[in-house]
Amino acid sequence: MDQIGRIFRPPSEAESLLLQVTVGCSHNECTYCAMYDLPEQGFRVKPWATVQADIAEAARFSAEVMPIRRVFLCDGDALILPQAHLVRILEELHRAIPSVRRVGIYGDARSILRKRPEDLARLKELGLGIVYHGVESGDDEVLEAVNKGSTAAEAARAAALLREAGIRHSVMVMLGLGGREGSARHAERTAALLTEMDPPFVGALTTTVVPGTPLAAAAADGRFVLPDPWGMLEELQVLIRDSRFTRCRFHSNHASNYLPLSLNLPADRDRALDTIAMILARRRPGDLKPEGLRGL
Ligand code: SF4
Repeated sequence: MDQIGRIFRPPSEAESLLLQVTVGCSHNECTYCAMYDLPEQGFRVKPWATVQADIAEAARFSAEVMPIRRVFLCDGDALILPQAHLVRILEELHRAIPSVRRVGIYGDARSILRKRPEDLARLKELGLGIVYHGVESGDDEVLEAVNKGSTAAEAARAAALLREAGIRHSVMVMLGLGGREGSARHAERTAALLTEMDPPFVGALTTTVVPGTPLAAAAADGRFVLPDPWGMLEELQVLIRDSRFTRCRFHSNHASNYLPLSLNLPADRDRALDTIAMILARRRPGDLKPEGLRGL
């Protein structure tokens, strides 16, 4: 398989074939992100011949070794691909590897909103089952400060479009992204946005200041101060307390988090809030994941 640079995928795509159809991220300006900062990771669409050869190789594996059921299209925001190109990839996957049951992809509000409802319906028909969307915050001031390139209202519109097309929506938000000063507002507005979006999956990650990023520069000169672990937990508390979901699998078990939780909301809300309240009341560092065990 032709793979350029570092390949990222959501945890739930661990068993999937990782098919790189674009390189890098078409936006690549979020101030906290260093995912695609290698020189060879400048954004581009991979040539059709390369993608086709990879699908052929995967098809041989699927036929001779083990049927491939799931595919994840990389890199950062592959949904930005022009509709005709994405349709061609999905049609070829469907034809060459008939065992594929679901295709997943990263998308953001910009790339989702570029699609018309009938485009998304066609992608769904061709097997696109889930879009992973880094929403990060419901607070437009935070989104602007981190150069997210989209607003909370756009994220809500993107959620409605995906729901209408029957494509599952997995949303990531970032604890601490508003800094210590903006912490309460970031948490409250993110809970409000999650309520409006009502996605079936939410993952809460903890902001990590990655060396070399603009956020690290802001942290170095005091323009950005990360909340402490208790502040992060207070934000998680607000998200779980104030978000209203029809039915949501809510995770805070990403490697970056201080308190790993895996919840069905709303069913598990009270139990989770009791646990968080207890930990916040006694403030024992031993209740949180040690810094050395946290990852990006
Ligand atoms: S859109 Fe995602 S991959 Fe691209 S720069 Fe922002 S966080 Fe990084």
